[in-house]
Amino acid sequence: MKIIDLLNDKRVTLSMEVFPPKTTTAFENVSRAVKQISALKPDFISVTYGAGGGTSEHTISIAKDIKDEYGVNSMAHLTCVSSTRETVEQQIIKMKEAGIENVLALRGDIPDETQFPLPGQFHYASDLVREIKRIAPDICIGGACYPEGHPEAANKKQDILNLKEKVDAGCEFLTTQMFFDNSIFYNYIYRLREAGVMVPVIAAIMPITKKNQVDRSIQLSGSCVPARFKAIVDWFGDDPAKMQQAGIAYATDQIIDLIANGINHIHIYTMNNPKVAAGIMDNLSDIIGK
Ligand code: FAD
Repeated sequence: MKIIDLLNDKRVTLSMEVFPPKTTTAFENVSRAVKQISALKPDFISVTYGAGGGTSEHTISIAKDIKDEYGVNSMAHLTCVSSTRETVEQQIIKMKEAGIENVLALRGDIPDETQFPLPGQFHYASDLVREIKRIAPDICIGGACYPEGHPEAANKKQDILNLKEKVDAGCEFLTTQMFFDNSIFYNYIYRLREAGVMVPVIAAIMPITKKNQVDRSIQLSGSCVPARFKAIVDWFGDDPAKMQQAGIAYATDQIIDLIANGINHIHIYTMNNPKVAAGIMDNLSDIIGK
């Protein structure tokens, strides 16, 4: 099923993100986690592409398994920053052959000390969106957006104008970077709509359930951390069980507030942790009717 059809429905959707193994030896662990997360029957599962050290070679096969073996809608991520046009084209053709119906089109982070873009490389995600539309016009395309502004953007206003170009190129929905303060998201949605970006936006929530995730997540995302969240990490961070429970509670609280404010589409960065995904799902069972 195309994700845009899910999102155009009025009901609340809860989707989840997983990442492929970082090494081939980790494949078994990831497969097990993906199976367990699929068993929770989220509305769809997205599979990252080379993010956070994960390899990109398994993205399509995991997205295919989720769809064909476990009966859950899936989406494959695709980046263009470290690839030639030929590699990108091959990946899109592989997706078509695997029956992938949804792709999150991303530029990817520019690797350090790399000359970018090399001649002939795609420069922005909007270039990738156009390429996917050219090769696989039936695939539903999503893109990333940044409630606190993308770190490279000159300013938030310019970032939204650039985002509008991505949407005009054929991006049908957006998924946000993680945020820990919902008021930032509400303000952002207002600015998007004011700028004429009218496609559905999925609010993505990162449950921080380990103390060591805090610095890394914040460094990668550039997200602001509210005092209330800092207090939780300070108090519970050295006790893994307590920190996990508190992180699940904080993420649940964010999601309930979003839904209560009319935001229907929520994505959870599961970090391949079925226990955390299940904990959040349990807390919301009546609210989302699952
Ligand atoms: P773009 O949309 O191309 O934007 C990048 C920057 O360029 C922005 O500052 C934008 O304002 C600017 N820009 C865009 N168009 C123009 C223009 N025409 N002129 C001037 N400036 C322009 N990374 C991975 O490697 N793998 C993943 O699987 C992955 N999944 C992600 C999922 C989500 C939901 C999010 C939010 C991020 C994900 N990322 C992933 C990280 C992402 O690749 C990085 O944040 C990357 O730096 C930007 O990618 P983008 O697609 O948003 O780029």
